[in-house]
Amino acid sequence: MPISDNHIHIGQFNEVYYEPQKISDTILETGVGSFSFSSTTSCKDGVKYKEIEKEILSIKYVFGKAHPFFGLIPEYIQQRIDIESVSQYIDYKGIKIHPLAQKWDLTNKKHLAVLNETFDYAQRQKLPVLIHTGNNTVDMADRFEIFFNRYKDIKFILSHCRPLENAIEIIKKYKNVFGDTAFVSNESLRKIAKFGVIKKMITGSDFPITHYLREREMGKYINIKQQYRNDFLKLKIQKNFIETGHMLLPETVSAILRYKSVKISKKL
Ligand SMILES: [Zn+2]
Repeated sequence: MPISDNHIHIGQFNEVYYEPQKISDTILETGVGSFSFSSTTSCKDGVKYKEIEKEILSIKYVFGKAHPFFGLIPEYIQQRIDIESVSQYIDYKGIKIHPLAQKWDLTNKKHLAVLNETFDYAQRQKLPVLIHTGNNTVDMADRFEIFFNRYKDIKFILSHCRPLENAIEIIKKYKNVFGDTAFVSNESLRKIAKFGVIKKMITGSDFPITHYLREREMGKYINIKQQYRNDFLKLKIQKNFIETGHMLLPETVSAILRYKSVKISKKL
């Protein structure tokens, strides 16, 4: 089974612009079977939905390989943007919510109304919902718990599984809640396996945020294609662990990949 990367971004991330087509090409060249993505341009102050729509439509789609996710932000309430109407122009395959970057207020009636309206649609259309989680009170894994209960047919994916114990508890508690492997360490994956929920983990890299963090925060230059090759290697290790319970060393996976490419090139 080809690997799928269920957590990819395009667009503006702080001061860097990750050009949609370049991101798509980089990922597919590496050998990923399919990927799901959303635009981080929606984190920009005063962003209009039209800008996001243009970015997503600018990618030349390879049929069945690139799955756009609708990044829902509270600002769309004012802009009268809702998932149902925008889905006429883009075949969204999921929804992304980022409770740290956007100020979701679950005591605000308007916010609750738009979240319920979006989840009603997701439930009807069988769309998964990817939720960013972190170690702050605003984005802990259980922040959206009321919805996990209410929308039992939606597949909710807790991205990053943070805080780990909290995420494990929620994934164990709800049949419809899963986790993704983006920025999840091997040690954390072992812990998830120990608690019996490893089969509910979905592979995702968070590329090109991986590139951004490495280059901007650690001050190390890395070619974007090389970064994704590293991310892809990590996905392979994670996928193998989820399926078999064995943690491969990166050297072993590189050797397997090299062997495969030798075999393929000989065939050609
Ligand atoms: Zn992300």
